[in-house]
Amino acid sequence: MTCWLIFGAPGSGKGTQSSLLVDRFSLRHISTGELLREAIKRETSLGSKAKEFVDQGKLVPDELVIGMVEERFNEANEGKYILDGFPRTPLQAEKLEELFTRLKVRKGAAIFLTMPTEVLVRRLVGRRICKSCGRSYHVESLPPKQFGICDYCGGELYQRSDDREEVVANRLEAYSANEVKLRQFYSEKGRAVEVNGNRGVEEVFADIKAAARVESEGVI
Ligand code: AMP
Repeated sequence: MTCWLIFGAPGSGKGTQSSLLVDRFSLRHISTGELLREAIKRETSLGSKAKEFVDQGKLVPDELVIGMVEERFNEANEGKYILDGFPRTPLQAEKLEELFTRLKVRKGAAIFLTMPTEVLVRRLVGRRICKSCGRSYHVESLPPKQFGICDYCGGELYQRSDDREEVVANRLEAYSANEVKLRQFYSEKGRAVEVNGNRGVEEVFADIKAAARVESEGVI
């Protein structure tokens, strides 16, 4: 098994690039944000512990998230994976290294998507999401044909509460404080690769593919 990691600020295109890796290279996508939202929806004991943190946009305590990721990898650890949203702290990064070593997972590159802050702010503040199917739009760069209505399913578009201008700056600041430490962690291990995310989707994807050696089984 090989596992790559992807890092990027909110609005950096991390979700889009992860989907491309999944579609074109049959990578399996593990997103801790999604796993947590699912646990909350299913009202598991982890979900009930994590709920207040997720609702407030705060980091869920390390031991809960680490336990969840361990469980996920213990269940199935064959094939190729892209891990998204984890690690978010140095302790999580340490624990993940231990887990990979224990399970003999090949350690792929840690991909850091970069993007100027002013572009991130514009992307996030203008983002609108369909209530029914979850598709993303942008008021300037990707508007729906009809104002406020999803082109695909006719659902109503809304702005996520944490995409409001007054919240966006905080989210970006919190992300970059952690990213500095994680980038250092993976740089020291020779596995950090930086990709300029401020270009067309396919250009960014081509760089990720090459820099992270996705076709050569993650050997870098
Ligand atoms: P995301 O979808 O990646 O933006 O994650 C949504 C929320 O889940 C975050 O705001 C955190 O509350 C929580 N979360 C996701 N991943 C982690 C993690 N690795 N460590 C702590 N909290 C996390």
